[in-house]
Amino acid sequence: MPLTQYAELRTRVLRESFSDASVRAVLRDADSNYVPISITERLVQAIWYDQRLNRDSLVTTDGRRVRIIFPGWWNVEAGPDFRHATVQFDDRPERKGDIEIHLRADDWRQHRHYEDPLYNDVILHAVLWEAGGDTVVFSHAGMPVPQLVLQPHLAAPIESLYDDIDLDSYPHNVRPQGGGCIKVMNRLSPPQIESFLDLAGDERFASKTRKFIRWIHRAGPEQAFYEGWMEALGYKANKTAFRSLAQRLPLATIAEHRATIAPLLFGIAGFLPTTASGDPCVKRLWNSWWKLRPDFADKILPDTVWRRAAIRPLNHPHRRLGGAAALLKKHPNLLEKVLGAIESDGDPAKLFLQIRDDYWARHCTLGGKTQARAIELIGPLRVQQIISNVVLPFTAAYAEVNADARLLDQVRRRYAALPHGEMNSLLRLAGQQFFATDAEAHRHLNTERRQQGILQILLDFCVNDKSLCRDCRFPEMVESWSQAAT
Ligand code: SF4
Repeated sequence: MPLTQYAELRTRVLRESFSDASVRAVLRDADSNYVPISITERLVQAIWYDQRLNRDSLVTTDGRRVRIIFPGWWNVEAGPDFRHATVQFDDRPERKGDIEIHLRADDWRQHRHYEDPLYNDVILHAVLWEAGGDTVVFSHAGMPVPQLVLQPHLAAPIESLYDDIDLDSYPHNVRPQGGGCIKVMNRLSPPQIESFLDLAGDERFASKTRKFIRWIHRAGPEQAFYEGWMEALGYKANKTAFRSLAQRLPLATIAEHRATIAPLLFGIAGFLPTTASGDPCVKRLWNSWWKLRPDFADKILPDTVWRRAAIRPLNHPHRRLGGAAALLKKHPNLLEKVLGAIESDGDPAKLFLQIRDDYWARHCTLGGKTQARAIELIGPLRVQQIISNVVLPFTAAYAEVNADARLLDQVRRRYAALPHGEMNSLLRLAGQQFFATDAEAHRHLNTERRQQGILQILLDFCVNDKSLCRDCRFPEMVESWSQAAT
């Protein structure tokens, strides 16, 4: 079966199941490279959820000023996309209700929401692109629903938001019950299940590769790789902040300041105080930072970008940044070494595992309590994630950009051979959706590629579905695939 078959099947079935949920857009990068990306409704939902908008100037298509007081809770059941939002139009009293998100204004009509009482409480129709025509739409109850076109108010160009937003992290609360796929999965033989998961896993890998191709075109291979592994060190909660830091302190600047990498990273992250502190490590960083600060003051990240709640101490952004500083110090040419390891059948994981730092081996936060036991700076599970999500797809992108078929083949073989990672909550949820028992899920999700495959299916289908599986055509897609394959 050709590598692209999952993607082709998926795109066709998604269009039929969730019409208008995605648009393939071709965007121009700064250096005139054209790279296709899919702008999906879920991306617009994530933009809304995070309110990545210039919110001071929002105006509806019928000329009312809008103030978003609360964007609402992400709804994964039938009905509008966000529930219980609060908005204010002009100086009128605040209104509470639902928000419906679409790519285009006429999707309201295309989706026939005007016939559906579930949408009677929608107080705002937020769309990415205007389609012209009506300035308001109407609910089933006959009430006018104001429309807001988001594109002119986006906090960054849509292609930057596409790169910044980790759609896998949204929404944060998909439903936990078993899904409508269990029956169809039961009808497949174990090799068929695994072969299908492999296809979906390959599509996920290919989409990460496409992302890195765009980054390489935009920033060059070294910077793109640096942004990739920095993002991975941010884990879910601080991915965007870590990547933003890598952009504010690019490798070219680091090369000019090799003696002060840690003070620059911690200073630009906004983690250092404005005056000297009593803690020896903070003091050491601060002693260099105060001299550098005037040149980098406009780069300092606001504290609001950092998420510290519900993060395990070992994953605290201070500690991860300590790891980044140690890695940058030890390997000025990390990309070269990673590529060398892959080309010579070596182990690139060692480059990440072997870094050391006396302070961060025994601390979780800057100036925090000293731990009794030394801890690895970047543990094997995180390194495995970096290999799977950054090193291999990045190297595939690098190989594609340089038309290096041999390297591409080496990377694909490595990806297929990666052992499975830990079962995180998303994988557990996916297991429940597709398999009758946890044991069965574990049996089939026995490689990284298959784990990635099931996540791809979950995010493609389960997250878009609002019919409790009733209208989802993924089972039909699997049936037709299995018949064609036999
Ligand atoms: S939403 Fe679709 S893919 Fe997900 S479990 Fe239900 S039927 Fe399967």
